[in-house]
Formats: sequence, C-alpha cells, structure tokens
Amino acid sequence: MENSRKNFSEWYNEIVELAGLTDKRYPVKGMNVWMPYGFHLMKNIDETIRKRFLEDNFEEVMFPALISRAMFEEEFEHIRGFEKELFWITKGGKESLEDDLAMRPTSEAAIYPMFRLWIRDHADLPMRMFQIVQVWRYETKHTRPFMRSRDIHFIECHTAHENYEDAEAQLQIYRSEWSYFTELMCLPYMEVERPDWDKFPGAVYTRAFDTIMPSGRTLQIGTIHQYGQNFAKNYDVKFAKENGESEYVYQTTFGMSERLVAAIISIHGDDKGLILPPQVAPIQIVIVPIPGKSQNGEKYINELYRSLKDMGLRVHLDSRDSYTPGFKFNYWEMKGVPVRIEIGDREIEENTLTVNLRTQRGRIKIKRDELGRFRDIMKTVSNDLRERASKMLLDNMEGKAMEGQESNVETHIMCRSKSCSEEMERRTNLTMMGHIMNTGKNGKCEVCGNEGRTALFSKPY
Ligand SMILES: [Zn+2]
Repeated sequence: MENSRKNFSEWYNEIVELAGLTDKRYPVKGMNVWMPYGFHLMKNIDETIRKRFLEDNFEEVMFPALISRAMFEEEFEHIRGFEKELFWITKGGKESLEDDLAMRPTSEAAIYPMFRLWIRDHADLPMRMFQIVQVWRYETKHTRPFMRSRDIHFIECHTAHENYEDAEAQLQIYRSEWSYFTELMCLPYMEVERPDWDKFPGAVYTRAFDTIMPSGRTLQIGTIHQYGQNFAKNYDVKFAKENGESEYVYQTTFGMSERLVAAIISIHGDDKGLILPPQVAPIQIVIVPIPGKSQNGEKYINELYRSLKDMGLRVHLDSRDSYTPGFKFNYWEMKGVPVRIEIGDREIEENTLTVNLRTQRGRIKIKRDELGRFRDIMKTVSNDLRERASKMLLDNMEGKAMEGQESNVETHIMCRSKSCSEEMERRTNLTMMGHIMNTGKNGKCEVCGNEGRTALFSKPY
C-alpha cells in the first residue's frame, strides 16, 4: 500500500479498490460497484444476520423499490424528514407519470400500507418482517464508498405488536442480536440515545449504535427505533383486541447497512491492508506453496486443501506459478485473509504446516493431523481484533487519538435540554450525539447543574 493508516482518509480510499471491494469509476456520483471480493464479504454479513433473524421468528420479505407520492404523503413528519434525500421518478417512457414514484430511502411507506391489509386481529401479532435490499438517498455531502453513498445496501426489520411493552421487549431482542453480530464482526460500539431533535422522523425514540473510526470521528452503524403508535395512527394499522375493541398496533424497526463493511475495513485494517474477522471473511485460510524439490508436494497440498474445505472452512489455494511466495504473502495480507499456511519441502518432510495469523507477527508450526486446531486459531484472530478495536475505542474516548490523527470525541455529563447541548457544542466545536446508555453514568449537567448523564460529542461521518 502507498498510504499508511496515519493518513486515514487516503488509506481508506486506496484500500477499498486495491483489495477488490469496490470500483469507484462507475460514472454516477455516489454509486459504486460491488466487486466480487467486497460483495462476498457483504453476503457473509447478510447471511449471518439472516440466519439469526429467522431463528428469532422474523420472516423475510421483498417489497417493491418504488413508493408512490400518494403513499409517501400519507406520512406526517416522516416524509419531511426525508424530503431532501428522495430520488423521484417522474416519467415512464415519454409520458409524465400521474403519480410520481420515489425510490425507497427506507421502507416504512411501502410496508405499512400492506400491514394495514394484513393485520386484522390480535392473533396476527406480533408480526415480524425483514428485508435485505438496496435503498437510495440523494446525498449532497461528500460521498465515500460504504460510508456515505447514494445507493445503499440496507437491512431493515419492521415489527408490529399488541402493546408498548411487547414493542419494548422487541427492542431488547434487537439489542441481543446486535451484540451477537458485532461480537462476530469484532466491532465495539456505544448505544447512544439520539436527542429528540435528531431522532428518526416519526419515532418515539431512537437508539443508535455508534463506533469510532481511526480518524477519531464516529460512525453510526446500526439503529433501533421505538415507533409507539405514531406510524400505525398515520397508516391506520389496527387490530381487534381479545375483547373485540379496535386498537392501533405498536411498532419497532432495526436498521443496518453496508456501513458495517466500512467499520470492518477501517477499525481492523493496518498499514499492510485489510484484516477481516474470520466469521465474515470471504477467504479464511490461504495456502501458499513454497516451491521445492519434494515429489509429494502437490499431493500433500491438495489433500490438505480438501481436508480444510471438508471442515467447512473457506480456504483458497494460491497455486499461481508466475508469482513468488513473498509476493503472495503481501497480496493476501493486503486482502485481509485471517490465516496463511505455508507448505514447502520441510513441512512435507516433517508432516507439518507453517501457519501465520494476520493479527500476529511470526509463525507457528502445527502437525498435519492437528487440523482441528484451526477452530481455535480463528478464535485467536477474532480475540486479537476485538482487543485492539476496544482499545482504540477506549483510547479515543479518553482523548488519545491514533498516531497522525486528532481525537474528535469527547464525553460530558449533560441534561436533556437543547440549549445546554448547544452551549456544549459551541464550547467543544463537536456535535451532540446523545446520551450513552450502555456504558455512561449519571451525574450533574456540566452546563446547568441539573440531573444528567454521560453524553457523546463527536464529529460524525
Ligand atoms: Zn443542562
């Protein structure tokens, strides 16, 4: 790589293309091509998420990408929240459309008119649905692959419940799902309650999952929302209670996106390139043969490859003749493959493998009949990543930035008033992101002295 991670922005722009994640040359602003390696990473993330949602009794759906103006305008404050970000289709062929069609920016306006038809009775509840789709937002700020684009790979859950408590319990389920996903992707986060003036349009409250990038700026990588009956009243989504009375449903949503890829790239990478968490890496193990004199080489390597594959590991054999082992080491390190196996004359003679972990210096030897150890080796890589990522987050919270970067994060005890937040924003030149719910503590507001709680101030992406 030409750029060191000290120049985070340049490093990021270089690695996303060098590693084969995306191609930024697509000639429409803010829309990038998912290259095979990048899309494989995203699909592994999707699969992990899909599997868990299905286990948690969600059903997968696929709604149309277009939403009519009439459907959108049923929506109260929600539409105003998205007004400036919508792409509109106004023509079909040469004719102007009678009712303009919006490209979905998220799917409340698409899904809830159908919930109105599907939900009749308390027996239909809870209704839990998710979809993994593209959404489109007319971003006017500087776009950057996976972090801020106009064509976004999006994962959205929508639920409907009989009462507020059931909706709250659903949010608790989201939290445990989120903690499971981020554990596998080795990403640390803070659960931040967005202030009232910054919550999702139409929500009762919004909890965002924010992480900290090497630039010391925060990135929102997931959100959960309590909608109460706000959307149901707007879309007239009612159910008959057991006593026959009609009531509006209570709703929640959970959203994630390709920003998970942005966080994985940024938080785990180093000067050599990517480091991918084993759980989602397109290739978990690469085998690099070291050319030698042994007659058995090919057989030994092919059998090893087969055995690892049979264990369910994603393994790749780099048998390209035109490159040296040294070139291949650098290449696969840059691509972030968690584990490398080297096989030469000595390994074949000793019946061993030489193994390098992407998170550690040096090499270890393991016996040919100890392949079961690779499960633990994968865990070690994940643990290394988690440890480093958590340390980076904590360092930034304490004002210790990564070398070459400035910390753009501060915490202050704040009350809930907007004027106190604005005062602190002036003092710090940062944005009030909200109160930290999972790790913060209660205390006196640093501006007015009233009851408060630890709040996050940062420069968000
Ligand atoms: Zn205050």
